[in-house]
Amino acid sequence: MAEALAAESTQRCEGCGSELAPRLLTCPSCRKLVHGARLKQLAADAQAASERGAPAEALVLWREALELLPPGTGQHAQVTARVTALSQEVDARGLSVPIAEAERKRSGMPKVLAGMGAVGLTLWKFKFVLALLLGKGKLLLLGLTQASTLFSMLLALGVYWTAWGWRFALGLVACIYVHEMGHVASLRRFGMKASAPMFIPGLGAFVRLKQSPVDGREDARVGLAGPIWGSAAAVVVLVAALVTEWKALGAIAHAAAWLNLFNLLPLWSLDGGRGFRALARKQRWVAVAVLGATWFLTGENLFLLIGLAAVFQASMASAPEEGDARTLVEYSALVVGLGALGWAANHWTGATAAL
Ligand SMILES: [Zn+2]
Ligand SMILES: [Zn+2]
Repeated sequence: MAEALAAESTQRCEGCGSELAPRLLTCPSCRKLVHGARLKQLAADAQAASERGAPAEALVLWREALELLPPGTGQHAQVTARVTALSQEVDARGLSVPIAEAERKRSGMPKVLAGMGAVGLTLWKFKFVLALLLGKGKLLLLGLTQASTLFSMLLALGVYWTAWGWRFALGLVACIYVHEMGHVASLRRFGMKASAPMFIPGLGAFVRLKQSPVDGREDARVGLAGPIWGSAAAVVVLVAALVTEWKALGAIAHAAAWLNLFNLLPLWSLDGGRGFRALARKQRWVAVAVLGATWFLTGENLFLLIGLAAVFQASMASAPEEGDARTLVEYSALVVGLGALGWAANHWTGATAAL
């Protein structure tokens, strides 16, 4: 580490030979790009990836190039436009799981399966579902290989344990972890670098971005991916609670629903806040209506609180002219889904979590 820093501080400009301070992107004497050679390589690789029909790979490379270009220059603007276009393509085509994608491209159906007709085709399709699930499973385990994640996770587990007992603590931490990995999966899909998830006992967890989203749509996608995965985890726990009739599971499902819902508060850098920034004013009023209706139906006051914050965002905060329709669909579905989930956990499992 120390050696690397020393080497960096004595870097010299390729053009004029003057000494360059670390982190400089342009030479102050001759205005030459410090990382010119690396940028050329990245551009060539990205071009090749695009020609191969691999926009997700090209996206990662252009994003890396963007970091090496000084903001405010024509080149920076050009590459930003490229990243935006590629990100939209990756988003529209749902190119999220490179493992399954590579699998699909590799080869056609084996002869044995082709000979089996419809059954063979079903088996062949099942293989992709399996690859997809394995891909998601692999990703889920990925976070656990990070020491910082594991350590903060155990710390959070200990805190919840002393407060509510080990069963509840374990279930809650697992649900928070899945929520965070939803963000990680979305970030990977858009080729954005980020830190491993870190737990803060009592507050949940977070992932710190190392690259910034190019537009509100991308930010909203990454933001809402956490509650989407987190809600899926809560549904699994609820089903397990109904099957086993184990009360602790019902309480975990209810708490997980509540936690994901709290994150939909459209304020600051909370997941909901990042989603709301991509919504036009009219769309925000639709979200207010959805929140109001869900509050009326469930009687859960958290919906009222989120609704009031949403009213503020719809009436007073700045909003883009052009909103993102998918964000509104995702946000509304999350609100209604979590309302139903919390209600079901309360009424069907007898969970009396006072959360
Ligand atoms: Zn120079
Ligand atoms: Zn989140």
